[in-house]
Amino acid sequence: PGPDVYRYPLLIRHLLQSAMDNRSTNEIVGTDGRRHGYAELDRRIGRLGAVLTDLGVRPGDTIAVMDWDSHRYLEAYFAIPMLGAVLQMVNVRLSPEQIVFTLQDSGATLLLFHSDFAPLVADLKGRLPLIDRWIVMHDGAGVGATSADAEYEALLAAEAELHPFEDFDENALATTFHTTGTTGLPKRVAFSHRQLVLHTLAIMSAFSMRPERQRLTTADVYMPLTPMFHVHAWGLPYVATLMGVKQVYPGRYIPDRLIALQRQEDVTFSHGVPTILQMLLGALGDARPSRPWKMIVGGSALAQPLHDAAAAHDIHAFAGYGMSETAPVVTLARLDSDDPDEERGRARLAGQPIPLVQVRVVDTEMQDSAEGELVVRAPWLTAGYGTDEAASADLWRGGWLHTQDVARICDRGDVEIRDRLKDVIKTGGEWVSSTQIEELVMQYPDVAAAAVVGVPDARWGERPILFVVASGHHPTLAAMHAHLSLHVDRGAISRYALPDRLIMLDDLPRTSVGKIDKKALRNMLA
Ligand code: ADP
Repeated sequence: PGPDVYRYPLLIRHLLQSAMDNRSTNEIVGTDGRRHGYAELDRRIGRLGAVLTDLGVRPGDTIAVMDWDSHRYLEAYFAIPMLGAVLQMVNVRLSPEQIVFTLQDSGATLLLFHSDFAPLVADLKGRLPLIDRWIVMHDGAGVGATSADAEYEALLAAEAELHPFEDFDENALATTFHTTGTTGLPKRVAFSHRQLVLHTLAIMSAFSMRPERQRLTTADVYMPLTPMFHVHAWGLPYVATLMGVKQVYPGRYIPDRLIALQRQEDVTFSHGVPTILQMLLGALGDARPSRPWKMIVGGSALAQPLHDAAAAHDIHAFAGYGMSETAPVVTLARLDSDDPDEERGRARLAGQPIPLVQVRVVDTEMQDSAEGELVVRAPWLTAGYGTDEAASADLWRGGWLHTQDVARICDRGDVEIRDRLKDVIKTGGEWVSSTQIEELVMQYPDVAAAAVVGVPDARWGERPILFVVASGHHPTLAAMHAHLSLHVDRGAISRYALPDRLIMLDDLPRTSVGKIDKKALRNMLA
């Protein structure tokens, strides 16, 4: 209670305001190779706000963006929510049908799209009746004919006004996007201003509780390597902007170009899925980055061999955990012990909850359990899935958000993600973690990638099948059994974990954000 004037709303506009008050002298390096300072970022956001208002955008409207990781996307991260409109981040790696579905589902009325997607947009236009304004964004000198009404830079250049952004209810929605559908159809999640502000501040305070080698500081150079269309690029663009860090936007991920950008701009801080890290190591070959490169790795488990290979290249990878439903950050590794071996082991664990996050590991009755489903509470979790009340109620069973991940909490408070509930293999009355077998298989020479899925079995319930991509000699099933048996003898895995079959592939199928697509592997077996 108290006069309204004391109720200071937590708004994305205040994140930008604080950034400006800090008068950062750092630069934002754009995808078009141009660079500008923070004051210009602020002006561009003000102009974008004015342009969108002139185009009729009003609070509550949904404005969709289809782009790679760009400085323009960063501008949209701010300007659209700051107008009271909702930013929809479109996953450009989904199938055209799914893209149409996600755009219609969120009710977007204006689309900003990169010229790379111009042919796709031209194809889909007839199936998107809700969208009546189309703006193209491009980096080169010119863009061919597109179905856009206008071009982003031309609109900004012609805009004389800076939009006077105002305060409103902090619970207003700021962003929306869809889950990637790794285990089902894409579902719509949404986040409010209050949620994103708290998420930003919590990540920053989590950094302050971690040693230098895990921290984003103003001395760092930040480059996202998680798509900005997926879960706010893990929230880091908001954090980097609030702190006034130098930011480098890489556009589409082309491995050699990413390495060249790292060198040219001295990038020191990124985040990405294991596949991206693997791709960077491949592009680096025997070389090293120009400066030690800190990298949060999440989205899938950070396997020890990948962590170690990265460390040998001066890339200091440590795990973070979260999901689309959680904005996403829930936990972050915390490497503050003096024992290097212990640290090495802890870097791959999902880490400790960041401030304000509560985690529990429960059984099916929601009773605390040593190993079971991880459930979470935090101020920044999605309230549900679009208008799907049944799925939303299921997500929030018992007042906790159900992650569908099997976890343990270790002595030091680190969360260890054992597997996805749907990927755990139930065999011979035991639960076998598919990720754990994969990690052990990857320690075998010449194994570039591995995946394990369970197939139904009349006698055992399920049995594990192993898929391997080899970088040299093809291993045999017998060799794999011999290798894994060592770990059975040590008690690390159950003897039921030895796979029944080994299938060699040239590549593993991946989802739209680069994770191993186990649905596709199961279909392959069926
Ligand atoms: P999708 O569920 O479609 O893959 P998300 O990006 O929301 O899309 O992925 C969230 C899931 O990714 C988590 O539920 C978990 O299974 C997995 N994940 C995320 N971070 C980690 C991590 N550090 N270790 C293991 N698994 C992780």
